[in-house]
Amino acid sequence: MRIVVALHEMQRLARRWRRQGVRVAFVPTMGALHTGHLSLVQEARRRVKSSGRVVVSVFVNPTQFAPHEDLAAYPRNLARDRALCRTSGVDVLFVPEDTAMYPQAPVPPSSTCVVEEALTRSMEGSARPTHFRGVTTVLAKLFNLVLPDLAIFGAKDWQQAAVVRRMVRDLNFPLQIVVAPTVRESDGLAMSSRNQRLAPDERPQATVLWRSIQWARGRVQAARRAVPAAQLQKGVAKLVASEPAARLDYVAFFDPDTLEPTRAVHRTSHMALAVFVGKVRLIDNAPLGVDAP
Ligand code: AMP
Repeated sequence: MRIVVALHEMQRLARRWRRQGVRVAFVPTMGALHTGHLSLVQEARRRVKSSGRVVVSVFVNPTQFAPHEDLAAYPRNLARDRALCRTSGVDVLFVPEDTAMYPQAPVPPSSTCVVEEALTRSMEGSARPTHFRGVTTVLAKLFNLVLPDLAIFGAKDWQQAAVVRRMVRDLNFPLQIVVAPTVRESDGLAMSSRNQRLAPDERPQATVLWRSIQWARGRVQAARRAVPAAQLQKGVAKLVASEPAARLDYVAFFDPDTLEPTRAVHRTSHMALAVFVGKVRLIDNAPLGVDAP
């Protein structure tokens, strides 16, 4: 496995692969890798086979964190990430530095950015107003550096995957976006780098996100007609409030493709929620009509 830090080295390598007709699958991450990330690596390898290249980036992107958010506390463990990538058959681990990605930081990090204006209005976009601008801009930069044929994202960040897919379509990036299923702990908690920041007494309470999804699923699947979103929102709020360390940020019911909020929730609807457990903000989502992860 090759470790690449310099932007020009990554781009030179990528251009050489392009010339040689080698297919490249890319898994962008913020590191502190877990089995969820590694499932994306497996999907990447499955798609480009042994003749292709799998690139993983580890970059804790400062521009997608608001000043009051957890950038400084975000878990980092490059030595472990390196070992995990090596044993998972990654070809290139790309770890660009902040100063190379944003030479003009702190203000402004860059004067050019990519903004998606429709799918980012709700959920994470309204709870974290500067978040998606940071995400789409850094991904545009990373796509230009890695020049992948496909990029793999997790269903865990459903809205992010939808926004990136739209950006790629709207701006004609020559790559395919693939979305892989959410990987969960045995008690249903979606794997996340942030889980390691949960205190021992908070960890069992964090399953309330998954329990909320399952409760809403039960209601929707048992009902003969659509269930009012307000009713489900109330039920989820009550469930979350029953955990002393948990505080509901939002819960949303929406169309999985357009992300349009739905007032009448039925089996094709999707659900997402964000919950603070202590100081840690966790998100989760799932389809309501099927018992998929
Ligand atoms: P992050 O490092 O949290 O920015 O995540 C990098 C990529 O891994 C994103 O595409 C996430 O959606 C994906 N990911 C994170 N957690 C999971 C999980 N539990 N299952 C599947 N994919 C995940």
